Amino acid sequence: MGETEQETPPPVLSTPVVYGPVASRRLGRSLGINLFTPASKVCTFDCAYCQCGAAQPTATGILSLARIKRGLSASFRKLVRFGTPIQHLTFAGNGEPTIHPDFPEIVAYVLRLRDRLLPGIPTAIFTNGSALGTSAIRSAIAKLDRRFLKLDAGDPQTARRVNRSKNFAAIVHSLAAAAKEMPVEISTAVITAPARFANLNSLRNLGYVRVVQRINPQRLYLYSIDRPPAVSVIEQASPAVLLQLATYLRSRLDVPVLVLRSRRTRPWAQWIWE
Ligand code: SF4
Repeated sequence: MGETEQETPPPVLSTPVVYGPVASRRLGRSLGINLFTPASKVCTFDCAYCQCGAAQPTATGILSLARIKRGLSASFRKLVRFGTPIQHLTFAGNGEPTIHPDFPEIVAYVLRLRDRLLPGIPTAIFTNGSALGTSAIRSAIAKLDRRFLKLDAGDPQTARRVNRSKNFAAIVHSLAAAAKEMPVEISTAVITAPARFANLNSLRNLGYVRVVQRINPQRLYLYSIDRPPAVSVIEQASPAVLLQLATYLRSRLDVPVLVLRSRRTRPWAQWIWE
């Protein structure tokens, strides 16, 4: 009797530093890179819809540079050994990657390791942009292939409600500064209810349109919550609302607007307004 060939499934990693590959609506099979301890969220924002839960004290949540390098090296080697298909290496995880004190060095290390072990795999980052006023951080993200900047409001009051962030004007200035130096994409979460967290009116306002014009991104993504939010009463915006908003924004912006569908929907088609 012949031997039954058993196929070894490619690993899905769940380590403090590297997780996935996960199915990303924007990036395909994306390997996540996280710079903070799993139990914490280290971020300059505390978005009401955040899937990482409520913000916690930052001092304890930072993974050391040595631990991050060890984790990256071991995980990349494992994926190479199994031939796991990956389409992007993505800085995301439990918080805002750019505020890790060693962020520029970590980017340099990831790129060196990528060139050695996973050549040709593009890199990406999801960032709230709050650290982009620093030129060293802008230089670091400029070395990556794709940059998704968060923009959930067109005015400071809405930013305070949705992102629980201050200094809206300074952050917009930093986003625009980064966009002058490198191509960027904007991600906007749409919240319709309850009213105390909603940003839909702000996104329909000329203030938001003007900020997007100032940043002049390659693309604008609209999406709604798809995982349990930090504030449990937040409701998912319907596809009809997202499409309506996309149509309105596309009529005022010279930028492709894409609506991301829920992960529970098959297929995860994106409606592209070009
Ligand atoms: S910026 Fe990202 S990680 Fe930070 S609170 Fe908002 S959703 Fe969460």
